[in-house]
Amino acid sequence: MTPSDIALDQTHSEFAKSWVLSANASGCDFPIQNLPFAVFRRTGSQEAFRGGVAIGDQVIDLAQVAQTDCLDGLAHTAAAACAQPVLNDFFALGPVAWKALRHGLFELLEKAFYGAKVDALRACLIAQSEVEFTVPTRIGDYTDFYTSIDHARNIGKMMRPDDPITSNFQWIPIAYHGRVSSIGVSGQRFKRPMGQAMPAGAKAPVYGPCARLDYELELGIYIGEGNVQGSPIALDHAEQHIFGMCLLNDWSARDIQFWEMAPLGPFLGKNFCTTISPWIVTMAALAPYRQPWSRSATDPQPLAYLESALNRSQGALDISLEVLLESDKLRAAGQAPSRLSGTSFKHQYWSVAQMVTHHTVGGCNLQTGDLLGSGTISGPGEGQAGALIELAYGGTQPVTLSNGEQRGFLHDGDAVILRGWCERPGFARIGFGESKGTILSADQRFYP
Ligand code: CA
Repeated sequence: MTPSDIALDQTHSEFAKSWVLSANASGCDFPIQNLPFAVFRRTGSQEAFRGGVAIGDQVIDLAQVAQTDCLDGLAHTAAAACAQPVLNDFFALGPVAWKALRHGLFELLEKAFYGAKVDALRACLIAQSEVEFTVPTRIGDYTDFYTSIDHARNIGKMMRPDDPITSNFQWIPIAYHGRVSSIGVSGQRFKRPMGQAMPAGAKAPVYGPCARLDYELELGIYIGEGNVQGSPIALDHAEQHIFGMCLLNDWSARDIQFWEMAPLGPFLGKNFCTTISPWIVTMAALAPYRQPWSRSATDPQPLAYLESALNRSQGALDISLEVLLESDKLRAAGQAPSRLSGTSFKHQYWSVAQMVTHHTVGGCNLQTGDLLGSGTISGPGEGQAGALIELAYGGTQPVTLSNGEQRGFLHDGDAVILRGWCERPGFARIGFGESKGTILSADQRFYP
């Protein structure tokens, strides 16, 4: 991250409007200031998946754009790199090319007059209601962090009432290496996991369907350009290596997780499913919503490699987030999903730049398309927790849904929906769309 990378420009003007009229609607996630990326094709078709950019309720087909002369120079080269089933080649082009494509599309989408290039771009629009999405990059590695101190405290109290925050938490952006194969985009459906758990007071573990299934509200962070093994990324350069962010649900089987995770960390409790939103909101689009990053004077201050004036002045991101639950009963009655909680990413104890730098400081090479999870995002207040285990106090105080149903942990048929957006006076509201995943009943073929 350098000051020039996070500078505001005309693409952030709150007064910019598009001839794609749906983009100008109040509350639209995808105004002209956003322009997030996804990989899509027409629903149910055998078309090749390819890159697209959201504008209003449309998606710009970048493979088609690359066949026209809408864009010039580097912007055209960048669009052409998106004309494939993963965005890795585009990400690898780096921030200058990302910016060229953002600005090229912005200028065409904003024009009030109808030139040949605008007409050509118009022919590349497809309604979002007619497309399906897939995981947008070839993810080599997925790392999930643990960077909300409120989440760490809430969870820690259940395991270590006298010492909820482990001594390393305030010094290290803690993480574990997760599983890529079970990551899917919004709309994902998965079977309740089977596994081992140790019931309280039991002498031996039991095997069966997870009894304490949970979600985790997180943001995903996509690596753009990687680093060479042995060459760590300095803190003030970290954000140059980040393309953008998505919503991420780190589904968690708490009973399986708590039995297995000492001493090596999560395994089957986490590896069965992770659901991401299809749209990646770029760091360029997020620039107006930066805030100072701070650390309480009574807490340990970061070691030098995780400390900088730039991170202090701009390191936090004010991204509003909420979690909703759609039960079988709510769905059958045609009722809206029930809101469980809401918070902001600005409360996170470590910044995304600190996560990236710490990941590489030992020599680890991040690669283009890698995905980092932020860790559960819980705020300091009541009703701001990013996991059901916190809201329902380990299942002892079930949460009541809008129709009166109660949840200590998740039931079969439940769908969990994550939403995110950014708002700031003087700037447009931009959104992340949603991440929705649905729980199916367990496959008990191997259950004696
Ligand atoms: Ca997690």
